[in-house]
This record gives sequence, structure tokens and C-alpha cells, in this order.
Amino acid sequence: MRIDNEIKLDFKDVLIRPKRTALSSRKDVDVTRTFTFLHSGKKWKGIPIVASNMDTTGTIEMARALYKDKLLTCLHKFYSVEDIISIKDKPFFKNIAITSGISDTDLKKLNVIVSKTKPDFICLDVANGYTETFVDAVKKVREHYPTTTLIAGNVVTGEMVEALTLAGADIVKIGIGPGSVCTTRRQTGVGYPQLSGIIECADAAHGLGGRIMADGGCTVPGDLGKAFGAGGDFVMLGGMFAGHSESGGDLVEEDGETFKVFYGMSSERAMKTHYGKVNSYRSPEGKMVKIAYRGPVKDTIQEILGGIRSTCTYVGARQLKDLSKCTTFIRVNNQLNEVFGSV
Ligand code: 5GP
Repeated sequence: MRIDNEIKLDFKDVLIRPKRTALSSRKDVDVTRTFTFLHSGKKWKGIPIVASNMDTTGTIEMARALYKDKLLTCLHKFYSVEDIISIKDKPFFKNIAITSGISDTDLKKLNVIVSKTKPDFICLDVANGYTETFVDAVKKVREHYPTTTLIAGNVVTGEMVEALTLAGADIVKIGIGPGSVCTTRRQTGVGYPQLSGIIECADAAHGLGGRIMADGGCTVPGDLGKAFGAGGDFVMLGGMFAGHSESGGDLVEEDGETFKVFYGMSSERAMKTHYGKVNSYRSPEGKMVKIAYRGPVKDTIQEILGGIRSTCTYVGARQLKDLSKCTTFIRVNNQLNEVFGSV
């Protein structure tokens, strides 16, 4: 047994220090980024905020809404081949990732979808990206689709980001346990504070020319500012995109109020929906919640982008690309004044 005594930080442990700046308005901030990916060689320009491949957020309806603002969506993996190939709108495939697990059945289905739709992104997603089987799957998928940009995860430490990047991932997804409906830390005691995870993993990936996607734990627009400031190239959101018209999950009425159901992909609810049961050797590592219905996602996107533009203005970053160079985090004991509630 060993103890690492260095303090690891979460979004709530820091604020970003404001700096003198020549920027006078948030209108002047460019929140788009252009990447040319390490292995696929593909160039992509857009806003690097991504809807999570959860079945409540990675929906085709969400992708249609986010695509208008040049955001990405990782579609959930439970769509049938027909559902996906029936999308006729070709440019749409520039801003979606086809998600797959790594079983033979998953990879066969992926092959059919990719050969028919030629998406720009594939997302290989497993709860624990630390296995040799996963590294081998990344290698195999990379060889099979040399020009498709490959997102792979999740991991949360530099050495595994390096292993996956060298195996062929263009973007490594970072996050073990920070998610809003995740109970991994409670069930297993395993995890890593997300802000430190991003800082360390960005350093490892960027050293090799790779990219990272910070996945999970953002609860307010300021957390995205911190995730980008920490070196995240992309930021993936579940809970912040849940509860909208475009999100999946049943709409429920209770005492005159409307809610949408949101649940973790390893929750009992997800396992029963997709596999009909929870296998006896495992326990759920996700939970189900009801979120007050929030209407169209468009307003949430504007709120998030407004927040990020303002973060950039406070530290003098004219482009999102410059935000991490301009960021100094300060450790804090207190974040918000909640005397009148939390919103
Ligand atoms: P959020 O933005 O809601 O904080 O986090 C979203 C992320 O949580 C997802 O992209 C995914 O990585 C993770 N996640 C989703 N469902 C589950 C689950 O059931 N268990 C765990 N451990 N993580 C989950």
C-alpha cells in the first residue's frame, strides 16, 4: 500500500484569478477551436463541447440541436443500425460520434454503421479504460479505420492517456467517478478529482500530440471554464444537457410540475432497459434522478457559451485556445454565496 500525499483538486476547490486584459467585450471572444487530429489526420472546427453518449443525452434530437451551434454529440450506442443510417443529412455526421463498446457484437455493428455513414468520429467507451483488452481494441479499431477520429476512454491518469494515445486514440476521455448520476466512488472507493485529472492528462496527451475530453462533473458554466482552463480540449456533459426537450428519458408529472428522468448508464434502470436484468456478479454504479423539465436545450447552450466567453474575458483570452495559458487557479475554501439558495 502507498499513499500519494499531493493534494488533488476538483472544480469546487478552485477559482480562476482575474487578470488585466485588453479585451473589452465577451463578443470579441472566439469559442471555436480547430484541431488536426494525431492519427486520423482529420481537421475539425467547432465548439468543443460534447453531449455525453448516455441514452438520455446522446440522442439524435440532441445532436440536431447542438449541431446548429457546432457542438458535438456522442450518440448513445443503443440506436439500431437503421436509426442511424436513416439520417440523410450528411453534414450532420461531421459533428457526431458513433459510440461503441468493445465486444465482437459491438464492433460488428460499428462496422456496418461506419461503412454506411462515414462519421467523422468514433467513440469507444468503457467504464474502465485500464484493461489490456481495451488497449487492444483501440489498436484494432485504429487499424481498421485509419482516417476516422477516435475518442477512447475513460481513464484519469497520465500513463494510461499515453498508452491509449500511442495505441491510436486521437482523443482520450477523462473521468472516473465525477458524474452527476455516477455511484462508482461510493460503490468501489475508486476515483480521481476531476480538475487534477484534467491537468495531468492534458499534459500527458499534449506531449504526444494527442487531445483529451474532460468527461463528467460539470454542474455550472463556470466548471466548463475551469475544465478548459485546466487544459481540456473538449468537455463532455451529461447532467447539464439532461432534462431538455431533446433529451431522452420519460417525462413525468408530479404535483403539477414536470420532470424528466435521467439515469446513469450503469444504473439499475439502464441495465434493466438495455439488458433486461442486472447480472448477479455486479452491482449498479449509477443512479436515477428526476430533473425539472428545462425546455429546449438552445437556451442552456447560450448560457454555457456566455459563461465561457466571460471566463475568457476575465483572464484576457481572445480565443478559447488561449484560455489554459491565461489561467491561474487559486485554491479556495468557499465558492459561492448561497444565502438566498443555490441558484
Ligand atoms: P455529468 O456531466 O452528468 O456529471 O457526467 C456525465 C458522465 O458520467 C458520462 O459522460 C459518463 O462518463 C459518466 N456516467 C454516466 N452514467 C454513469 C454511470 O452509471 N456510472 C458511472 N460510473 N459513470 C457514469
